[in-house]
Amino acid sequence: MSARLLEGRPVAARLWERAAAEAARLRDRLGQPPTLAIVQVGQDPSAAAYTRQILRSFARYGLEARLEPFPSEVAASDLYARVEALGRDSSVQAVLVQTPLPAPLTLAEVVRHLPPEKDAEGVHPTNAGLLWQGTPRVVPSTPAAGMELLREAGVAPQGRLAVVVGRSNTVGKPLAQLLLAQHATVVVAHSRTRDLAALTRQAEILAVAIGRPGAIKGDMVAPGAVVLDFGTTEVEGRLAGDVDFEPAQHVAAAITPVPGGIGPVTIAMLALNVLALAGGLEAGG
Ligand code: NAP
Repeated sequence: MSARLLEGRPVAARLWERAAAEAARLRDRLGQPPTLAIVQVGQDPSAAAYTRQILRSFARYGLEARLEPFPSEVAASDLYARVEALGRDSSVQAVLVQTPLPAPLTLAEVVRHLPPEKDAEGVHPTNAGLLWQGTPRVVPSTPAAGMELLREAGVAPQGRLAVVVGRSNTVGKPLAQLLLAQHATVVVAHSRTRDLAALTRQAEILAVAIGRPGAIKGDMVAPGAVVLDFGTTEVEGRLAGDVDFEPAQHVAAAITPVPGGIGPVTIAMLALNVLALAGGLEAGG
């Protein structure tokens, strides 16, 4: 058996079509393109690459993305003051704080200086709380992309056992909540989980976001499972997922490739969040 590939690019193309139409409508209303400010501290290569992709895609589809770069040794108080100023700036409708941040800065602390109404990634405590209560305003774009790929593939989470490996505030936790909201039975595993394989082998939906290339081996995947691989680690100049793709695709019913799976859909989801915060579409697509 060979798994169905859950390709992100065609899904992203459909989302961008919608985003572009909405961006044009909002541009007329706002008198400017809907605008995202990207706060980037330091020069982490993966954050820099993600920023470049956002700048390119937003320009292509009629949104604006403005980079706000800071040196890695920026004083926390200066960074917070700038984030607060972006919160007051009426020409900016949404703000994304790029990770990783150099220690001792943390995403949780930086986003607290942002009004939740401008939180492009849904990581402000207010937005994270709304998501947990099942009434989201903004859904983090990466887990939203995973859910969109499931929807496009016709996979209904209801009643299925979903195992989410990884519990970050940006991917694992919000994904678990989104699956729960669609009536999956959800298990969240992490680095202290005992016998991970015994859990993953039971998963009807297996979602992995750990940043450990190939950590999920083929024999850890249940026959017929739907596998979402969020991992994007650069290995020898190429992006590698968290799932050992070759053996896993012979066991799974469907699987997202890396690259070309979750990634392209994520940026389109981010654009839809920006448009929602700018007064257009509903958040989370
Ligand atoms: P993160 O904040 O580093 O969190 C990693 C999580 O994985 C933690 O919860 C950690 O457990 C768990 N973990 C680490 N090693 C493990 C292991 N061997 N077994 C089980 N659990 C393990 O990472 P993240 O930001 O969520 O990102 C995860 C991956 O997704 C990365 O590859 C990242 O590049 C990728 N990502 C992709 C996109 C996209 O658009 N495709 C967007 C964001 C992130 P503990 O909590 O116990 O430490």
